[in-house]
Amino acid sequence: MKTSSQQLALSMLLFVFSITAYANMNNLLRLQKAYPDHIQTVLEEAIIWTDGTVMPTQNSVPNKTQQQKLDNPSLSDQVNQILYCSGIPSDTYRYTPNGDPGRIRYEPFFRKMYGDTQEEVQGKLVTIYWMPLIFGSNYPLLVTTVNHVDQKLINISNELEMLVLQHPEYIRFLEAPGGTFQWRFIANTSRLSNHSFGMTIDINSDASDYWQWDLERAGKPITEDAALTYRNSIPWEIVPIFEKYGFIWGGKWHHYDSMHFEYRPELMACEPQEPNYSLRKDTIGSNAAARRAG
Ligand SMILES: [Zn+2]
Repeated sequence: MKTSSQQLALSMLLFVFSITAYANMNNLLRLQKAYPDHIQTVLEEAIIWTDGTVMPTQNSVPNKTQQQKLDNPSLSDQVNQILYCSGIPSDTYRYTPNGDPGRIRYEPFFRKMYGDTQEEVQGKLVTIYWMPLIFGSNYPLLVTTVNHVDQKLINISNELEMLVLQHPEYIRFLEAPGGTFQWRFIANTSRLSNHSFGMTIDINSDASDYWQWDLERAGKPITEDAALTYRNSIPWEIVPIFEKYGFIWGGKWHHYDSMHFEYRPELMACEPQEPNYSLRKDTIGSNAAARRAG
């Protein structure tokens, strides 16, 4: 017969388990909400796509480290990662992100949605012209039609044109975009970049900051746990224009990539009043110096 302390421990365990299961299910349901044309049914163990494909939500590795979640994630790891907060933080000078919302990606999910091979992805791409009122036909971009990403980027491009009419000094951040579709691995990893799927855009790379470049420049090894000093020189007004259409920004990652915008509407669940960032404790002056150095 169980003692009362054993019973208490058991009920505590069941309670924690049911809370975790509830959160997992809630987060999986975000996928269906964000991609209603693709996902028909969400269950604890699997999601069912509209064509009947059953995709498991778990894989066999328990208690993963952050590195293992990046290298070998399950779909549940992808949906249970830190959520993305849209909007402009109140103190942009001292802003520094705590996490990397969106960097855990379950590759089969994106291959299923956008194309399993380079050829399959390419079959769904169209050319759009980037900010044609300003740049004419200088910057044709290949983007996917899946989830109407092409139309969303046209709308973003239109709104950015309005923004640079007010702020011509922002043109240099948006001119000569670094790229959209490219079937490739993320630098120094064996993980496919989301640029491989045609739903990601890099704006001007010369005017941007990327954590790996900064480590390289400092002669330091590129590792996930390297100490980083957050940097960004992209004007903040650009960011909500992308977010309005479901794009997350790499400038809100601890592993910052300030040229990078990626269509991930399932992560847009954190309201600006529940920030996942903290304000830096150092002075505004030193951060401004760091930004000039970029
Ligand atoms: Zn990128």
